[in-house]
Amino acid sequence: MVTILVDAHLLTLTISTPEIVQRTVRVGPATRIQRERVMRTREIPTTRHAGSLMASFTEVNKIFAAADIEFKLRNWTKEPIEAPKGSEKLDDDGFLMLANSFPMKTAVNLLLVHRFQGSEGGASVEKLGVCAVGDDSSDNAIAHEFGHLLGLAHQGDIRDLMNKGLSAPGTPLTAREIADARASRLFKLFSSQQSQTAN
Ligand SMILES: [Zn+2]
Repeated sequence: MVTILVDAHLLTLTISTPEIVQRTVRVGPATRIQRERVMRTREIPTTRHAGSLMASFTEVNKIFAAADIEFKLRNWTKEPIEAPKGSEKLDDDGFLMLANSFPMKTAVNLLLVHRFQGSEGGASVEKLGVCAVGDDSSDNAIAHEFGHLLGLAHQGDIRDLMNKGLSAPGTPLTAREIADARASRLFKLFSSQQSQTAN
């Protein structure tokens, strides 16, 4: 079994917008309207937490067990981050802007945001070892993005985890995908690290 470490980043997107407020001030017997410029900050946190992530990883690992691969949640941190493009939804472009700030060092980075709206239920950049999902993305969507990090491309139909659209919960990997995942750069990286630690 090869263990791939994952650091989860529970993101709170912050959006700051300037606003003009009016307030009434008394000057002696008279009242005057004063205008002031203030910054309003809205925060959009993910509703996921360590417990729900653990449960998701259990489901994800049922799928990858066929490839003798296990994803292990090493760390989870809550992090505020300025919303890309000032949007409360993370889209594919916004994800790419964030992805560069989370390159893989010793673990894959999983970004969790409240709302993800892209061409699929999540997004990933294989060469950076980073992926993202929204709160309503299924466990399968997480497994699908992990599949991309393992070098798997879109293929197959609804019966295939790596199909472009949705798949049923627990949809298995095909024999070809298992072979490709085990030949991937990410797999080799973690399997060589583990054999070094074992020696
Ligand atoms: Zn995909």
